[in-house]
Amino acid sequence: MKKKVLQNYAQLASRAGLRFEAQSGAIFGLYNGYKVLVYPENENYPYILTVSVSATRPGNPISKAEGKAFSKEHKPVNSLRQDGYQVKMTLGQMTNQEKLAANLTEGLNALTSFLRANNFQNCCQTCGSTNPTEACVAGGTCMQLCYNCFVNLQQNQAVASTEKQKKKENIIGGIVGALIGSLLGVACIIVLGQLGYVAAISGVVMAVCTMKGYDLLGGKLSITGVIICTVIMLVMTYMGNRLDWAVSIAMELDVDIATAFRSVPLLLEEEIIDSASYWVNLFMVYAFALLGAVPTVRNTMQNQKKESVFYRLGV
Ligand SMILES: [Zn+2]
Repeated sequence: MKKKVLQNYAQLASRAGLRFEAQSGAIFGLYNGYKVLVYPENENYPYILTVSVSATRPGNPISKAEGKAFSKEHKPVNSLRQDGYQVKMTLGQMTNQEKLAANLTEGLNALTSFLRANNFQNCCQTCGSTNPTEACVAGGTCMQLCYNCFVNLQQNQAVASTEKQKKKENIIGGIVGALIGSLLGVACIIVLGQLGYVAAISGVVMAVCTMKGYDLLGGKLSITGVIICTVIMLVMTYMGNRLDWAVSIAMELDVDIATAFRSVPLLLEEEIIDSASYWVNLFMVYAFALLGAVPTVRNTMQNQKKESVFYRLGV
């Protein structure tokens, strides 16, 4: 999260009488007897706040109609719903800090009054027990958990991560997977190319499918895997672009695709294909593949890191 956002969150927390934890960016604490967590559902929209309370009303979760009536009655509230033992209230986007703080307080008051009026009790987000719970970060996500669930989740993660580390990377399998995945990227380049687009989406498909393919058949995606995938993507993007031209040539000159594919360099040399537009096109597909690959690798690495993040917010 950005520094400015974190500063604003710290202020929001103190205005609402809640606590703030900078590492996760979570606002948490006891509000009118309920243990609340406040966070953005999507970090790209930090001023769309979600208030989560782990609460239970035996055998009777919040219905759709109840949720609708609640958000209609309270202006700052966009939605209220229950997902398992988690009651989630989302507030409307507000970039003005004064108004955001006012909305949060109004939302918190409305939600906690509603929960009290409907006999909701604080509980654990995972098992639903009404034993004491604590705000935690588990697998990179803010949750309200009882001690047992926190320890269990942490142990499960530790076991999963050692198993993952023990698992050997199968490079041959990875290459096969990456090639199969990259064929989807090639198909995407040709189909969209024939429709007249050089779309960012084909680059993204190429990058995601190649790396997913490697991960699935290779067992895991290491740095070696990323390098192999990059080489495959470079070659296959070139092939996809040339095939796209070959399809157009085949239709134009009424020859088969293999002949058209082979004739591309000759047609370029003879300037029957405009070489500027050919190379610009290829360059753009590469640029889009790069745009797709960088966030994919970054997200994979970040998620791997996040999975092992466990700590209790209050301590
Ligand atoms: Zn529990």
